[in-house]
Amino acid sequence: MSVLPIFVAGQWRTGKGEEMVSRFPADGSEVARLNAAGEQDVAEAIAAADRAWRDPAWRNRVPHERAAVLHRVSKLIMARQEELAQLQSRDNGKPLAETRGLVASAAATARYFAAACEVLEGELPTPRSAAVMTLSEYEPLGVVAAITPWNSPIASEMQKVAPALAAGNAVVLKPAEATPLMALKLAELFEQAGLPAGLLSVLPGKGSVIGEAIVRHPAVRKISFTGGTRTGRHLAAIAAERLIPASLELGGKSPTIVLDDADLEQAARGICYGIYSSAGQACIAGARLFVQRKLYQPLVARVAQLARGLRVGDPFTPGIHLGPLISAAHRDSVAAYVALAKEEGGRVLVGGEAPADPALSKGSYFLPTLIEGLDNRARVCQEEIFGPVLVAMPFDDEAELIAMANDSVYGLAAGIWSRDFPRALRLARALEAGTVWINTYKTFSISTPFGGFKESGLGREKGMQGIKAYMQQKSIYLGLSGQSNLWSD
Ligand code: NAD
Repeated sequence: MSVLPIFVAGQWRTGKGEEMVSRFPADGSEVARLNAAGEQDVAEAIAAADRAWRDPAWRNRVPHERAAVLHRVSKLIMARQEELAQLQSRDNGKPLAETRGLVASAAATARYFAAACEVLEGELPTPRSAAVMTLSEYEPLGVVAAITPWNSPIASEMQKVAPALAAGNAVVLKPAEATPLMALKLAELFEQAGLPAGLLSVLPGKGSVIGEAIVRHPAVRKISFTGGTRTGRHLAAIAAERLIPASLELGGKSPTIVLDDADLEQAARGICYGIYSSAGQACIAGARLFVQRKLYQPLVARVAQLARGLRVGDPFTPGIHLGPLISAAHRDSVAAYVALAKEEGGRVLVGGEAPADPALSKGSYFLPTLIEGLDNRARVCQEEIFGPVLVAMPFDDEAELIAMANDSVYGLAAGIWSRDFPRALRLARALEAGTVWINTYKTFSISTPFGGFKESGLGREKGMQGIKAYMQQKSIYLGLSGQSNLWSD
């Protein structure tokens, strides 16, 4: 198999780092082989990025011309949606129906930030009586380090690259070790769309080597990271030392709550989708299920029935619900959490193991799993498993529920199922979570801010602040009085 080139400072070339192999998680077969970026690639990419964002030819380009590049990328993505979705399913094992959605969402993100770039305005915050007029303008930050995880590559990458470029920055993107292919495709599409050379480089490689070298480089002016809380904390420390901003989209252990007035069928279906889609490999997966006692038995029985009916299989088989997990090592870590749940006193109602089907034996599959009999303080309720494992717990009153739901270091998302909107809204306000879904789950809008409370992150992506997160404000004063200062006559 030929070695894929990487994209450094506007050039396609073999990386100068160690060999990497992308594997199809459904059977372990090789998808692509490439060499990671090396230190010299990092130095060249960042030097080129630093020149590119300062270049007046790009910096002074009017917003609609910058936006045009993003519009072209968006069209190119949609023209190749099927090919990109297939590649992403091979790279990370997600079902094709999901990766088609992720590709479409990347195209939509490019369109949205093209629009945001065009409508972004500075301010004239001048007090009426002042002898000065002031302008407040938004300027780019410079070189942005974008670092992404493996679970939703093209979507999470575009969520960083599009606003950062729209804001006038250059981006050095480091995709996850397991999934380098979509980021490289994205570079190809941006190049085709006419993005000037140097504004985007894609440097695959190990986080502890290449990621670390990028974020510590003195020319990098912002870290935009999506990944685990542990890595996020480490990068926040580097950002603090270097005094540069960091946006951190981190882990979660989100509660899904069913109140006793909920539509049981709607809730059960929403809960299953919330935890089992992407085989639970979602930061926002609704992993802790709290059900008001009156509905507990029937609701849990229905969730169990639906979970048993979900189809686990090859991501390219039409109609499957769960593909394999990203790797055998990750599948083993999920299995270890189920063993721990049993030790902690949990009862496995559904799943809890790899599927028995011999046709799936080469892939890192795990069955949708439902556990009960645990307390919210159990380790499986406190730690992020990142797999298709749901723990159900009953509750009696709202005060007890709020205390349990908020008893987590995480605060990324929450779900509420209820027919009583004032009650649901009151509860939504009491939950410590960056996103709360009422009678829906995992629904997204690019214009709505997304991010975590507590150890789930810092900063917000999406929406108009999604572009401002890649800018800094400059205030300019124009003296109008003719007096240079208080000492003047
Ligand atoms: P991870 O933290 O292990 O890796 C994420 C990225 O960081 C990878 O590209 C990795 O190479 C890089 N990295 C690791 N160490 C680094 C270092 N020292 N310096 C620079 N870069 C480094 O996470 P993962 O296992 O790839 O992804 C799963 C995690 O991501 C889960 O915790 C999940 O909740 C989280 N996630 C969060 C969101 C969100 O929006 N909040 C979205 C998706 C995933």
